[in-house]
Amino acid sequence: MPLGISQKAGNIAPSATLAMDAKAKAMKAAGENVIGLAAGEPDFDTPETVRDAMKEALDLGMTRYSPVPGTLELRKAIIEKFKRDNGLTYTPDQIIVSNGAKHSLYNVFFALLDEGDEVIIPSPCWVSYPEIVRMVGGVPVFVPSGEREGFIPTPAALEAAVSPRTKAFILTSPNNPNGCVWPRAALETLADLAVRHNFYVVADEIYEMLIYGTEKHVSIASLGDEILARTIVINGVSKTYAMTGFRIGYAAGPREVIAAMTNAQSQATSGPNTPAQHAALRALIMPQDCVETMRRSFEERRDAIVKGVNAIPGLSCLKPDGAFYVMMNVTRLLGKRCGERKIEDCAAFADALLSEVKVVTVPGNAFMAEGYCRLSYATSMDNIQEGLRRIEAFVKTLV
Ligand code: PMP
Ligand code: GLU
Repeated sequence: MPLGISQKAGNIAPSATLAMDAKAKAMKAAGENVIGLAAGEPDFDTPETVRDAMKEALDLGMTRYSPVPGTLELRKAIIEKFKRDNGLTYTPDQIIVSNGAKHSLYNVFFALLDEGDEVIIPSPCWVSYPEIVRMVGGVPVFVPSGEREGFIPTPAALEAAVSPRTKAFILTSPNNPNGCVWPRAALETLADLAVRHNFYVVADEIYEMLIYGTEKHVSIASLGDEILARTIVINGVSKTYAMTGFRIGYAAGPREVIAAMTNAQSQATSGPNTPAQHAALRALIMPQDCVETMRRSFEERRDAIVKGVNAIPGLSCLKPDGAFYVMMNVTRLLGKRCGERKIEDCAAFADALLSEVKVVTVPGNAFMAEGYCRLSYATSMDNIQEGLRRIEAFVKTLV
């Protein structure tokens, strides 16, 4: 047998979002004056009471293995959260806590997919979905949509993507990378489709608290018993409470799916980090006003970045209703030259932006969105303004 890695592992693309963020951090550490607009990570400090809970946990002796699906106390707090925020009722055996929502997603698809099962993913989509689906033997089926549809696929496009092998659909609202929020009518159409064709909806609601303007978050699971029985809701504390490093995410859904996820988790990773669960519990039960404070800051930043991008000749972006990203449309500048280099595609655009003016973005091809660069506004207003200034200066040099 020759040495070497498996075909399965060899086929996995590394996370482009994490790679770009690492690049920005490495450049900064090397003393370069970089503006990072790549990280999908709140820049706020974790709330003090949550930090205190983490410290307390150690002194309270919470240093041992946790139950595989998470502590009962935390699962009960998650149940309360679903009741309070989403009008959903679950029992503890319908909840599993994992090492971040990304791990929850991996567990869900591990539990649901047999070789060749299809998962419908509206694109542009977050980098990790297609890779996770492929890692467990599934086949991603993309439903593209663009600015014209506000990045929400039409009912006809959704229907056309369904096949006898469709096992699940990934719904991300608010969305990463495009920030769109699915209105209730679109959720109802999707719920109807899922019930008629009998497939699961994996509803990634990690950005539910980051909605601006008049849209309200609606969990598709709350639209009726039939869709509830087919939905696995994914959420976590990373984005809502600025707790990305704690690595706590969770899933809620049908008992047999959660049980399968729990079995997989028991063999692969065991229960999640015990003190971090105590901190996550504190986050869920503390007064929630800091969430609103952070949301308001994000809204101001969104307004500034949208205005700034649209004021630069050749660039544009939609005004997203949620999350903390904008998709900067660079198509009108493709084909231009930056010195000797021809800017052929969004990856070349992002590369040139980085080398010429040290602004880090994530090229749209990472999200199946050629012609765009994703900008994260989870950074200070000063960074946003300086980033915009540099992008404008860069664009002016293109001929
Ligand atoms: N889903 C989406 C859409 C995300 O953007 C992220 C951010 N990394 C995650 C899930 C995973 O979050 P985490 O693993 O930090 O809980
Ligand atoms: N979700 C964030 C992003 O898209 C964090 C990085 C990651 O996990 O992909 O940038």
